[in-house]
Amino acid sequence: MTSGQHTPPRASLATWPTPLEPAPRLAHALGLGADDLWIKRDDLIGLGGGGNKVRKLEWLCGAAVADGATVLVTTGASQSNHARLTAAAGARLGLDVVLVLAGSSGSSSSGNLALDGLFGARVVWAGEGDAGTLATAAEHVAQRLRREGAVPALIPFGGSSPVGARGYVECARELLLQAPELNTVVTALGSGGTMAGLVAGLSPDRVLGVHCGAVPSPATTVSALATPLTDTPCPPPALRIRLDQVGAGYGTLTEPVMSALTLAARTEGLVLDPIYTGRALAGLTAAVESGDITPGQRTVLLHSGGLPGLFGHPPTLARAEEGLTDG
Ligand SMILES: *Cc1c(COP(=O)(O)O)cnc(C)c1O
Repeated sequence: MTSGQHTPPRASLATWPTPLEPAPRLAHALGLGADDLWIKRDDLIGLGGGGNKVRKLEWLCGAAVADGATVLVTTGASQSNHARLTAAAGARLGLDVVLVLAGSSGSSSSGNLALDGLFGARVVWAGEGDAGTLATAAEHVAQRLRREGAVPALIPFGGSSPVGARGYVECARELLLQAPELNTVVTALGSGGTMAGLVAGLSPDRVLGVHCGAVPSPATTVSALATPLTDTPCPPPALRIRLDQVGAGYGTLTEPVMSALTLAARTEGLVLDPIYTGRALAGLTAAVESGDITPGQRTVLLHSGGLPGLFGHPPTLARAEEGLTDG
């Protein structure tokens, strides 16, 4: 930030930096050297069960509070980690929270949804539909809240706007201090803000995004979010994005992801989730197999959280229990 420029407000929601830990047994299993692979533990962020959305919410909630907001409104899937962490951030800051979720009431209250209830969030069910349907429903909710005398702040889908993505420019700064020689950070790519901030803070060639199927055009989405944050050009073709881990769609469990979950758990005692971090490791595995990531390079896998989502995904839990063997 150049001096004289207005510094955007930031809410304090956690303690920084998060740890960077070696993963020598996982590295070996992937065919990398013991010192080649490190895990950035953003799952250990202290607020609300942890995860990458907290970094974005520090900037998004900072802006909301500066604008005099009394209630945060956001959107997501019923098992949205972002919705859960918005609920936690609201609790921490003394703001009401309304979550506009895809689906209908009667969806099971496990995983993230159970935590939404614990944090005291109100839920509006928007039925089945795409991101546009959810955004329209959120706009209607905001209008109703205004009529009731509240001051709503709309937090974007996944917390991904150039303001929210600043959180990952900060994460890039932490990584450059913790691992100055890093070659590639591997991250799951959902709504795009996480990869965008990392790209802006590191450069496009040092970030590998693994598309999870949450947005229709991941490269265009990330490019649009990163461009306002950096002088380095990040047009869509400059971005390193793997499109091969989506499988049958965003919410589904794939075999490479199930293998990745099992491998991380059995080599490092590390729990990944089926939607995001499992895809990130499956994509990293494929990148090593294809020679895009090679031994001797320093690679960081971003653990972006998502553990509650594992407990809201019955097919993955059933597969995990199959791993129990008689003693
Ligand atoms: C949202 C999310 C991501 C993806 O981050 P985006 O900024 O939306 O691309 C990755 N991992 C977890 C656990 C998430 O909840």
